This record gives sequence, C-alpha cells and structure tokens, in this order.
Amino acid sequence: IWGQACAELEKSVGPNNYNHWIKPLHLAAIDDGAAHFVSPTRFISDWVNRHFAKDIMAVLTRAGATVERLRFDIGSQAPRPAAQAAAPASHAPEAPTTRAPRADLGAPLDPRYTFSNFVVGKPNELAHAAARRVAEGGPVGFNPLFLYGGVGLGKTHLMHAIAHDYQARHPSAQVLYLSAEQFMYRFVQALRESTIMDFKGMFRNVNMLMVDDVQFIAGKDSTQEEFFHTFNALVDQGKQIVISADRAPAEIKGLEERIKSRLSCGLIVDVHPTTYELRLGILQSKTEAFRAQQPDLEIGAGVLEFLAHRITTNVRVLEGALQRLFAHASLLRREITLEVAQECLADILRTNDRKINIDDIQRRVAEHYNIRLADMIGPKRARNVARPRQIAMYLSKQLTSRSLPEIGRRFGGRDHTTIMHGVRKIEELLVEDSSMVEDIAVLKRMLEA
Ligand code: ADP
Ligand code: MG
Repeated sequence: IWGQACAELEKSVGPNNYNHWIKPLHLAAIDDGAAHFVSPTRFISDWVNRHFAKDIMAVLTRAGATVERLRFDIGSQAPRPAAQAAAPASHAPEAPTTRAPRADLGAPLDPRYTFSNFVVGKPNELAHAAARRVAEGGPVGFNPLFLYGGVGLGKTHLMHAIAHDYQARHPSAQVLYLSAEQFMYRFVQALRESTIMDFKGMFRNVNMLMVDDVQFIAGKDSTQEEFFHTFNALVDQGKQIVISADRAPAEIKGLEERIKSRLSCGLIVDVHPTTYELRLGILQSKTEAFRAQQPDLEIGAGVLEFLAHRITTNVRVLEGALQRLFAHASLLRREITLEVAQECLADILRTNDRKINIDDIQRRVAEHYNIRLADMIGPKRARNVARPRQIAMYLSKQLTSRSLPEIGRRFGGRDHTTIMHGVRKIEELLVEDSSMVEDIAVLKRMLEA
C-alpha cells in the first residue's frame, strides 16, 4: 500500500518535496485509524506533519486504509520485513507524545543546506572546517562555535549542515536550531502563558543548540538574560552550542559584556566575503545540480564567469540570478547566451553596479570627522579640515573611476596636482599611522555598504 501511495504522493507534492521529505519515511503500521511512520529525524517528521499530513492521509485513504492521523517514531529507517510492518508499532522506543512539546520549538532545517552542497574556498574554509569538526561531535570540539560574516555568505547553510550531519551521526540526539528572533518569540510567549518552566526545561534538555543571527537579541534585555542562563546551563552540561551573527561578539552593540565574553570563549570564525573563484565554483556546482534535472539546458560560454564578475555581494543574489536564467531557458527552450543573460538580469546587474560617487564620499567623510560639508570644497587650510578633505580625495581616487582633474573640479575647482598631493599624503599616512588605516577601512565599509 505504501509503494502505491508513494507513487501518488510524488505526483501530488512534486518530486522535490517527495524526495526530500517523504521518501525517507517508512510506514511501519496502520492501526486504529493511525498511520505509524518511522522517520530518520524529528525535523523530517515535523515538517511532513506540518506540510504533507493531509496529502498522505488522503492518499492512504484512497488506497483503502482508514487513516485519520499520523504518528511518527524516530529511528533507523531500515525497512522492516512486511510481516512485522503489519504489526502495531507499539514497541517504538520513542513515542511522539513525549517529544510533542518540543516539536514547535525549533525551526525546520532546509534539506538542501548540507555539507555536500557547500562549496569551499579560501573565504570560508576555516568556517567550514570548524563546522565539520563540531558536526562530528567528538571530544576536540569548540564550544561555543561562533560564526560571523556578512549577509548571504553561507552562515545559515553551514549551521543547517552541522545539524543534518550531527543528527545523522547521533540519531537520538536532540538538535535544536532556531533564529534568535524565534528564541525571543518563544520566550515572550512562555512568559505570557506562564509556561516559563517548561520553556527552560525544553531548552536545557537539548544536546545541541544552534541560534542563528544572535545580533537580533542585542538591546532586548530580558531575552538576553534568559539566553545567558540557557547558554550557561548547556555549556555546564557539556552540550554543544553554535551561534551565528553578522559581526564579531565584541562588535555587537547592545549586547551585555558577560554575554560577549561567554560567546568568545570557544572558537570565533568569520566567513569572509566571497572571491571571484569561490563565486565561480558556487555557480558551477549549482549549474551541475540544475542540469542533473534538466540535461538539455545549455549555458553559453562565459556566462558563469560573467555572473561571477558582476554579482559580487551576496551568494543568495548570485543563486537567484542563476535560477532566473534557468527558468528563462527552460520556458523559452533557448540556450543561455551572454546576451540573454545580460537582458534577463538587467535589474540585478544594475543594482550591483551602483557606483560610489564623489558626493557620497564627501558627505560621509564630513560626517565622520564632524566638519561641514561646505569645508570639503572650501578653501580652509586648517589641519582639522584639510586632512579630512585629503581623505575624501584619496577615497575618490580609489573608489571611483574619475580622473584627477575631474576630482579637482568637484573639490571646489582645485588643480589636479593638489589632488595628487592629497592622495599621496594619505598614502604616506597609511604606512605610518595605524589610526589612519582604521579610519579608511571604516569609511570604505560605510561607502560600500
Ligand atoms: P547567511 O546566513 O550568511 O546570510 P545563507 O546561509 O542563507 O547566508 O546563504 C545564502 C544562500 O547562498 C543560500 O541559499 C546558500 O545555500 C547559498 N550559499 C552561500 N554560501 C555557499 C557556498 N559556499 N556553497 C553553496 N551555496 C552557498
Ligand atoms: Mg542566515
């Protein structure tokens, strides 16, 4: 009956959903209106229960069984012999009712975010190695593992990969993954419903706790407090913690010092911005995955290289662009040439092209040094004004494609030699003055954001 049901389910939920979520399930028994499944992980059963329960019941009912509810046991998915499968699954070691309160605590894991789908390159190799180590769950781990980096660089992907891998190695372990926002939401809900003891109990009972985007709880005092206690309780019990954020602990404003220092006592690794090589590698790997499903798709020469050059900010945007190209190609049944790609992605390419201009630079620098914008172009020679002006000149030369005479015109009609002198002066200072190095780095980051 399950074999037949599966064929129908594959049609009704689509092959992707089917392969990710339903195929791993094993139907152990149907009795008393309940279909008993064995699922390899609780994440899968939670997800199936939430999204496909209706489909499954409908299909089984159509196949002649009376099914009003689904029950899931977590365990090895090794199919049992047919004779045993007919028997009620009362011997199941972990009844779902004991786990039920936990079911909604975490967030579901994306089945595509695995280590095997993660492309490793220079910018993320350290983060990847640390994630692998933690997923092994051996004695030489890091606790907590703190991953940080900009948006769309693969932090969430790595966290899910750790969870999948760790869960596969330790099937009975409780792995809880959620965003800091969800943590706060659950906490506030528990306060409101006076179930705070349950809340504490549930969080303190996991083997691995993963909190994504922890910068979210900065400034949220009681949530931080609770997070701190949860954190300490788990670390004291030797449970693994994995945290991500958009910046290093010390840089998160509004986060209590004691939390920062707690977060810093394991391993802190940053996921660096992507390089051209990594972007190209990611594009190639995603293209292979697409073509495994649609072998007749053609990608013209140089298209992936073009994308890797032009979309530099965020892997999610890169992926989105590729997906759009494939959708386009499979609808129009045309090869994706460079021209097709340029046309189809015009909007994405434009935003990625957003040029930094001299006005931005002058405004930012004036703000940073607390001088008037007018002094950027004015004649004042006092050091406190002249130095920022030279910095703005230097950044204009570095970050825009303007020539020295053009820059001179924008700085109150100064001569190109004056601009050159200013640029040189800053270059000298960058060698001998580390605070200048920092100032320039901060300004560049603000301008490029
Ligand atoms: P973050 O959490 O750092 O903002 P995500 O983990 O959500 O970023 O990554 C954004 C998207 O880019 C995801 O779809 C992810 O699968 C993909 N991605 C990022 N880095 C890589 C990589 N190295 N290999 C494959 N896919 C990646
Ligand atoms: Mg993320």
